Amino acid sequence: MVYAYDDQNIFAKILRGEIPNQTVFENEHALAFRDINAQAPVHVLVIPKGPYMSLDHFARDGSADEQVGFMKAVAEVCRLEAVDAGFRAVANAREDGVQEVPHYHLHILAGRNLGPMLM
Ligand code: IMP
Repeated sequence: MVYAYDDQNIFAKILRGEIPNQTVFENEHALAFRDINAQAPVHVLVIPKGPYMSLDHFARDGSADEQVGFMKAVAEVCRLEAVDAGFRAVANAREDGVQEVPHYHLHILAGRNLGPMLM
């Protein structure tokens, strides 16, 4: 599958500093910030800094350093947001996954009982 990354998407603008965000954590390869329309007391989006559209794109084409940096950011978000009682991590992809922003992002939701996974 060929991907055409749109560098005008809103998360690309956040990465370039063109749109403000509420940063929770940042490292060389990833940025974590609060979702503007939080669905739970904790709702953080973790994004790679590289131009990847979705989880499968990042898993396929991201370098080992980028992937490790991303996962370390996930770990830091879980530590900083104290999700000891549990959390949900969700990555929507493309049309059937109802992905709105075409830059890979992992939703991390916590802070309440999230109920059964919606299908
Ligand atoms: P998706 O459906 O998985 O693509 O989710 C996109 C998410 O991005 C939604 O939960 C939106 O609330 C969130 N979002 C959109 N624009 C912004 C923003 O400017 N800052 C933070 N979150 C945003």
